[in-house]
This record gives sequence, C-alpha cells and structure tokens, in this order.
Amino acid sequence: MEIKKGIPVSPGFVVREAFVLDSEEVRIPQRFIAPADIDREIERFTNALGVARAEIQEMRNQATESVGPEYGAIFDFHKAILDDRQLRKEVEARIRNNKFTAEYAVSRALRKQAKSLGSVENPFFSQRVDDIYDIEKRILRSLIGERRESIKDLENEVIVIARNLTPSQTAGLEKTKVVGFATDSGGRTSHTAIVARALGIPAVVGIGSITSDVSGGDTVIVDGTNGLVIIGPDERTLEKYKTLERDFKEFQRKLVTLLDMPAETLDGYRIKLMANIEFPEEVDSALSAGANGVGLYRTEFLFTDKTKPDEDTQFRAYRDALKKMGDRPVVIRTLDLGADKAPGDIALIREANPFLGCRSIRYCLQHIDILKTQLRAMLRASLFGNLKIMLPMISSVDEVRRTKVILSDVMEELREQSVSFNPDVEVGVMIEVPSAALTVDILAREVDFLSIGTNDLIQYSLAVDRVNERVAELYQPVHPAILRLVREVILSGKRYGIEVAMCGEMCAEVIYTILLLGMGLDVFSVTPVNIPEVKKVIRSVAMREARETAEVVMHLSDAKSAEAFLRARTHKIVPWLA
Ligand code: PEP
Ligand code: MG
Repeated sequence: MEIKKGIPVSPGFVVREAFVLDSEEVRIPQRFIAPADIDREIERFTNALGVARAEIQEMRNQATESVGPEYGAIFDFHKAILDDRQLRKEVEARIRNNKFTAEYAVSRALRKQAKSLGSVENPFFSQRVDDIYDIEKRILRSLIGERRESIKDLENEVIVIARNLTPSQTAGLEKTKVVGFATDSGGRTSHTAIVARALGIPAVVGIGSITSDVSGGDTVIVDGTNGLVIIGPDERTLEKYKTLERDFKEFQRKLVTLLDMPAETLDGYRIKLMANIEFPEEVDSALSAGANGVGLYRTEFLFTDKTKPDEDTQFRAYRDALKKMGDRPVVIRTLDLGADKAPGDIALIREANPFLGCRSIRYCLQHIDILKTQLRAMLRASLFGNLKIMLPMISSVDEVRRTKVILSDVMEELREQSVSFNPDVEVGVMIEVPSAALTVDILAREVDFLSIGTNDLIQYSLAVDRVNERVAELYQPVHPAILRLVREVILSGKRYGIEVAMCGEMCAEVIYTILLLGMGLDVFSVTPVNIPEVKKVIRSVAMREARETAEVVMHLSDAKSAEAFLRARTHKIVPWLA
C-alpha cells in the first residue's frame, strides 16, 4: 500500500480501479491469463519487442540521414532499453508467475523503471523518464493493436489518473463512468479541479508522480477531502474507505434537501453563505449550490491569457455574472496580480520577495491605466445587478483613498461620455495584511464592507509562505495571533455598522465553522462545492453553543490544541473529518 499526498480540490471518497490516461489515451487494465496461455503470451511480448526494435532502428536511420549522426544517437537509449535482458526477464517473470497479460506486465515493469529513474536527483536521469514512457507506448501499441480500449467507451466506473487533464481529454470523457481524478500536476485553479468540482466527484491534484506509480487496473482510493491517494490499499483501509464512500454519498444526498433552506443556526440566527468564484462558468455552480451571492470574484483569470483583456471583454464577463446572480450581491475584486498569481502576458519585474513586492493593489496603483480600464468595465456592468467592488491587499488607508480618487475620476469620465452606471456602488477592502487588521477601525470609516482574506493574513502574520510545503505545518489558521486579529476585525465591523465577511479558505473548512460563527462572523464566502457542508454545520448548532466553543478556543494557547478541540466538536456533525 502506498499513500500519496496532493492538493484536495474536490471533496469525497472513492475506491475504484485506475484508468491511466496518457497522451494517447490507452488503457491497460489488470487482466490475467490462463496457465496454458503463458508461452503464447511470452511469444506475443517477444514479437512486440521485435516490432518496437525495428521501428526504433528505422527512426534512427531517418534521423541520422536527415539531421545528422548526433541526432540519430538519441535513439540509442531506446534501443538499450529494448535490448535490456533484465527488463525482458522481469516481464517474462510477471507473465509466468503472476499470470499477467503481456500488456499489463510490460506496463508494470516499465513504470517501475520510470519511477526509479525519476527519483534520481540528476536531470540526465529524470529526462529519461519520458523516453521510458515513449518505449512503453511503442510496445503497447504493437501488443494491443486493435484491442485498445478507448476512454470513450468505458464499461466500468474508473478513477482517471493523468499528468494533467487537457480540455480536449475532458471533452472525450465518458462522464457517467469517471468517478474520481488524481493528477501529477495542477493546483486549486487547474482545469482538472474545476471539472471535478463541476461534476461533483472527488479529486486530488499536484501529487507529483501518480502516473508513474499507478498502472491501469490497480485499485486506487481518492480521498478528495484530505488530499490523499492510496495505491493498492490493504484490506482494512479498503473497508474503511468503502464505508466512507457510502456514508459520504448518503450525506450528500441528504445535503441536497438543504439546498433551498437558509444557513440558519438552531436558534434562528441567519448567516449569509456566499460563493468564491474564479471563472465565469462557476457562477452556475454557485447558483446550483444555493449561494446567497458571490462573496469573491477573482478577476485574474482574465489576465492569464496571451493578451491583456480590453474593457469590453471585461465588461461582458462581469455583466454576465451579475445578470445570472439577479439581485444577489456580486463582490468583484480588482486585479490581484503577482506572487502566486502569475500573469500571462503582463510583464512583472523579477523581485527577490514577490509576496512583499509590487503585487495586487500596489501593482494597480502603479499601472493606473489597467486599474481604470477594470473600474470602467465594472461600473458599466453595475447596471446589470448588485455589484460591489473589493480592493485586495490593502496595507494602509492611503491606498484606499488613492483608489477611491481614481474611481471618482472614472465615474466622471463615464458621465462626460453619457455612459450609465450605478454611482452608489459599494466599495470594500480585503483584510489580509496584519497592518490592515491592526488599523481596521481607520479603514472601517472609509469603506462600505470588509472581507477577511485568511489565505494571505495567515501567511503575512505568521511569516509562513502559503505555497511552500516545507513550512506547511506552521500555516495555522487557529494560531492565537490569527484568532485575535480576526476577532478584532469582526468587532470593529459591528462597531462601525459595516458588514464583515470572510473569503479565505479558512471559512470553507468545516472544522472552523462553529468557531467563526461563535466569533460573530455573519458572512461566509466559500467555493461553491463547500457550501452544502458549511450550511449543514451552521444548521446543526445553536449560537449559544458556538459562542461557548469560540470562548474556549480563544483561551487556548496553541493552534494544535485548538484544532483538536474543534475537530472533536465538528466530528459529531461531519463524521469523516480525518
Ligand atoms: C485570501 O488571501 O484569503 C484570499 C481570499 O485571496 P487570494 O487567495 O486570492 O489571495
Ligand atoms: Mg489574498
């Protein structure tokens, strides 16, 4: 049994056989042969090796002729592998001893080689991994011939294992048969993550080497709640996850009944449950999850293509989202470019500390043309729904004042051009830098709402890079420092009579729901897929209990004790919390 850790991007549990998707979409299921067929199977393998050798020789000759002998020599590695007696012996042993089909035996043996080469910290060896895959494909092509199974006509439910799903691969998926994803690369915003969330199936991405560790037909577990992929689980693990899969499905089935119910505590305290979205198509997911609005619309997606989006492109994207959401609020954030949000075409100067550099509102205030274009697009779209504008990474009130002056200029320009817009559009700021949290009383007097961005607030307050796995242990949402800052922001909002939301991932994790409720948070903004679970927790507690929980946690001296306490508290409502 092997346990791999990755980034959880779509929750749930699933145990199935793996479907390893490579660029040619060939599937190698684990199949067995009868003892009487062993010799015939070994002969098939020997013939396939011969065909592969002949093909390589042909390619070598062509390359030498057309480009030169050095280029032809590239194929020497392929030849060496195909001539390797050890490999041949290993495949034959797997056929003879395990009664594997030749296809499966080849796939297993070569993937083992690819894995051991990939683990050597030397670029020469790691680059050879692709060559091994190439050889695998070549032998399999010859073996499988017409017997190839296509991803389009799957018979059984499978977990798709891929390097990273491309949009065209997704288009070809038999969606009713794909019940989980695990990929080598990708992050929260990768295509795989978005597709998995839209399909509502568990997914873990960014695992690193899953395609070389798994062969088609292997039994695999995807734990999309905790970011784990388990290969070849033992009996106990298998049973545990089969139960989790069943219970989770049952829980989700019941969650559907919550769809039209308010996010309200047992004693009738109403919470606004909003959606965080990054792509226009996620507006639909927000609506079908029953969101009360969009609490954070990240606009960076518009800026990662080859060209800078013009005003009309932006206007259309914002207008469409606003129209779909009707009179529900849609909080659109101005460009938060830089650091972890890499641009496509906009040249950012290399900086030693990009997280502390010219990112986000700082970048916009240095590139006023970009900011003005975005504000114009937002204001024009403001007529189509309930728009609110949010400014990210504010570290002092000057930035708010300067941005508001620019907003007034843009309004003036629009008036002069007789372009209509809503002049009373609300403007709020994100509280994601400690200096903003500590001066929240000053900021609260200048804006219409606040939204706590814990992803950055934790990073900046605890001095822990949010994307560095080496310090991930220190990234603690319930560190006493974070809790004090969050409480101060919530209290200030109430003191100045403005709404305080939270849009960082902290409020999407159900173990913190009761705590945040008890601290007085009224607006939770989470990815659409997390809405039902968070709602379920809100509807399972009374405000009095939540306040008591918060009181206990606020007095704990360290994050580990707080986590353990909250986990035990929430476990009663959401039983599969790890
Ligand atoms: C945050 O920092 O908490 C946040 C919501 O913004 P982002 O994750 O986009 O930086
Ligand atoms: Mg942020």
